[in-house]
Amino acid sequence: MSDTFKAILVSRDEAKQQSVAVVEMTPDQLMDGDVDIAVEATTVNYKDGLAITGKAPVVRRWPLIPGIDLAGTVITSSHPDWKPGDRVVLNGWGVGETHHGAYAGRARVSGDWLVPLPERFTAMDAMAIGTAGYTAMLSVLALERAGMTPERGPVVVTGAAGGVGSIAVALLAGLGWHVIASTGRTGEADWLRDLGAAEIIDRQELSEPGKPLAKERWAAGVDAVGSHTLANVLAATRYGGVVACCGLAQGMDLPASVAPFILRGVSLLGIDSVMAPRQRRLEAWSRLARDLDAGRLRAITTEIGFDAIIGAARDIVDGRIRGRVVVDMR
Ligand code: NDP
Repeated sequence: MSDTFKAILVSRDEAKQQSVAVVEMTPDQLMDGDVDIAVEATTVNYKDGLAITGKAPVVRRWPLIPGIDLAGTVITSSHPDWKPGDRVVLNGWGVGETHHGAYAGRARVSGDWLVPLPERFTAMDAMAIGTAGYTAMLSVLALERAGMTPERGPVVVTGAAGGVGSIAVALLAGLGWHVIASTGRTGEADWLRDLGAAEIIDRQELSEPGKPLAKERWAAGVDAVGSHTLANVLAATRYGGVVACCGLAQGMDLPASVAPFILRGVSLLGIDSVMAPRQRRLEAWSRLARDLDAGRLRAITTEIGFDAIIGAARDIVDGRIRGRVVVDMR
């Protein structure tokens, strides 16, 4: 591998104006870490879109290489768990926020942040899943730990045509759930049905202020949207049901009442992917390898090259990306 590599670098000037550029870098410009990785694939998550456009304070030191997810091969390691040639995946841990991230030919990170690339997956497959898919899996695992099974009734997935949502639809349908997909892109109804959705609802049904309690419609939920949508999902959850809260695409607020919790025994579970402990990551990746249908994953994914990352970052923030974007870095 040559000593220089291309990277996307986000910088900030004295007036705190953020800019983004493609630059050439050398390994000595990377931050501290005990494992160097040749990045073979990455992805563009909503959070990466926010980081590159500067629309939300995702990047917290400058200049910084964004990109929260990577898959590749270990080049050098002084960490006991990893040796050159090992195939690895990294999601989160502040990479692409406070530590140089995935949008570069080479990454230097802590070996504690890595998990082995499951044998079933290529680097591109793992990044088609990315943080979005791994978060969808964390949400499914949380519902299961709370005792939820498909026999309990339907599950609603909000933001269904997005990254987290589309993989949640595919995973839950594959596990036998009756999936109700909530989307603003009803033109994607056939695509969502192909992923396994049994019913499609217009997200407008959920995105306006609603009543504290509504007709019971589902036993479980995976919510990537927050705000009124999550409040309405909770209000329509059946007695004893469980909702996993993992996103804020509509908003960070939660204008809800306690009624679903104290009158219907509904539970709300918080999902965090960034600092999730290693054991939970290993469990999520092994379940993704077992449960995610390869055909459905392909149907969700659009492939791009390094040069298209910045454009895709803008598109995802503007809601113009369907499913998952995977970046071939080779
Ligand atoms: P995407 O942009 O791919 O998907 C978000 C989806 O939300 C959109 O596709 C859209 O779905 C829906 N949506 C967008 N804006 C609105 C709105 N104003 N009102 C209602 N629905 C809306 O993002 P990701 O799937 O990558 O991420 C989804 C959310 O999850 C983000 O908020 C992200 O920050 C969060 N997240 C959290 C993680 C965690 O650790 N908890 C990890 C990963 C992501 P549709 O077109 O179907 O209507």
